[in-house]
Amino acid sequence: PGRLYVVATPIGNLDDMTTRALAVLAAVDVVAAEDTRHTQNLLSHFGLQKTLCSLHQHNERGRVDYLKALLDEGKTVALVSDAGTPLISDPGAMLVTELRASGYAVIPVPGACALIAALSASGLPTDRFTFEGFLPAKPSNRRSALQRLAGEQRTLVFYEAPHRIQDMLADCVAVFGADREICIGRELTKTFETFISGTAGAVNEAVAADHNQSRGEFVVMIKGAEAEAPSDDLTAVTVDLEALLRNLKS
Ligand code: SAM
Repeated sequence: PGRLYVVATPIGNLDDMTTRALAVLAAVDVVAAEDTRHTQNLLSHFGLQKTLCSLHQHNERGRVDYLKALLDEGKTVALVSDAGTPLISDPGAMLVTELRASGYAVIPVPGACALIAALSASGLPTDRFTFEGFLPAKPSNRRSALQRLAGEQRTLVFYEAPHRIQDMLADCVAVFGADREICIGRELTKTFETFISGTAGAVNEAVAADHNQSRGEFVVMIKGAEAEAPSDDLTAVTVDLEALLRNLKS
């Protein structure tokens, strides 16, 4: 049977297209794309003309059988999303899960990914982090999602939409405190790429003060909570126990 290639594409700067991604896209029989028009433009930019089929959250179920049938005929398929790495806050999870479970070859062709690009230049700890994707849109749900993460010690990474960035930052101040260190990466690899880092309070104010700072695409990163100091002060306990014994005797 054929194979599925999961191909990363640029997140803004077309020069981030890898030579391997271009070779694979040129070679496959079909390109399954989140938005065929968007991918058509990308392929045309690189002089490629391919058979496209759409694969998005509303038709993924039906597409799995269709693509399996293509693979059974020995055809090769590439999966791409509008930007960055497929399946990372993008469609394709159902397809990859089902193909792998059924024993088909699924081959990653790595490249741009907004969360990794942002984290790598953030200055925040990168040895351990947790990617939380998009927070819930509803304000009360967003705040409780953040509250559940308040004690997390790993760096937190979120994707956020421009019309919600200001509210999200305000929630971060409320939940994590104005002093928690955060960094936002905006319009990565594009003309207006900007990093703003500092305390949650300062970053929130900086974005509020300049409307341009809430335009475009965002990765929000929050430093993890400090580890609690281990309580190894056994003498304090001993003293208390002695006092307790004295009280009991008297
Ligand atoms: N699959 C993509 C990836 O690998 O990063 C993510 C797709 S998700 C639908 C889109 C979100 O990713 C945006 O709302 C934004 O939070 C983030 N994003 C994508 N491109 C970005 C960029 N150039 N700069 C900052 N954030 C970006």
